[in-house]
Amino acid sequence: MAVPWHPRSWAPLAAALTLLLVTGCASGDVPPPTVESSSAAPAPPSGATPGTPTPLTSPDGTDGGTGVEQDIDAAVSVTTTYWQTHWPELFTGGYNPPRILGTYDGDTPGTPVCGSEPLPDDNAVYCPDGDYIAWDMDLMRWGHARGDAWVYLVIAHEWGHAVQNRLDAGLVDLARELQADCLAGAVLFGAAQDGTLTFEEGDTEELADALTALADRTPWTDISDHGDASQRVGYFSRGARSGVKSCLPNVVP
Ligand SMILES: [Zn+2]
Repeated sequence: MAVPWHPRSWAPLAAALTLLLVTGCASGDVPPPTVESSSAAPAPPSGATPGTPTPLTSPDGTDGGTGVEQDIDAAVSVTTTYWQTHWPELFTGGYNPPRILGTYDGDTPGTPVCGSEPLPDDNAVYCPDGDYIAWDMDLMRWGHARGDAWVYLVIAHEWGHAVQNRLDAGLVDLARELQADCLAGAVLFGAAQDGTLTFEEGDTEELADALTALADRTPWTDISDHGDASQRVGYFSRGARSGVKSCLPNVVP
């Protein structure tokens, strides 16, 4: 049942996503579409040999086709590749990926700590002290049951915090959580443009659903912390349409 959204057709996909996501929401904070200057050429970056793109939805069109662990591995791989490939085009200085601490269970004794605090139950984190990304498997399973796009969004978002931690302070938005959503949009849609990730029918709805569900969830989505649903969708859409630079304050995309 899945009609593949091929990577080259990302523009209509982005338009569809934007339309879907901003319908009924204030969208005044979304700038007019612009082309990410660093990737005006749609060809994959040199050195990046697209193999078989990671499908965001399994080939048979059902999310049940891939396990949550498999999707997590794919999301980590896609996000790693995106930042390694594009960092030199975007920023000065080298790029070192964060560590992947991976799965924890916030409900049991022995939960890893960030600083002196145990990692939060049913949550996902980037921990600056230790420079690692980790997620409670309960959060991932809960979201994955709604659609596999969930794990891609959560991992790309947390990775956005790792990127913030590598930037000059002037490039970090005061609304750090919303900027992380913007960076997640830039990564997932940029990966589709690169041919490392394939969107299929239903994925945009899943992303919209995930952003909305996350906005309803606490503590990952405490409004004071992460913004309300329309804000999250607006920032994600901006990154999806206009790329990483559109997520950075004081930078003309
Ligand atoms: Zn966050």
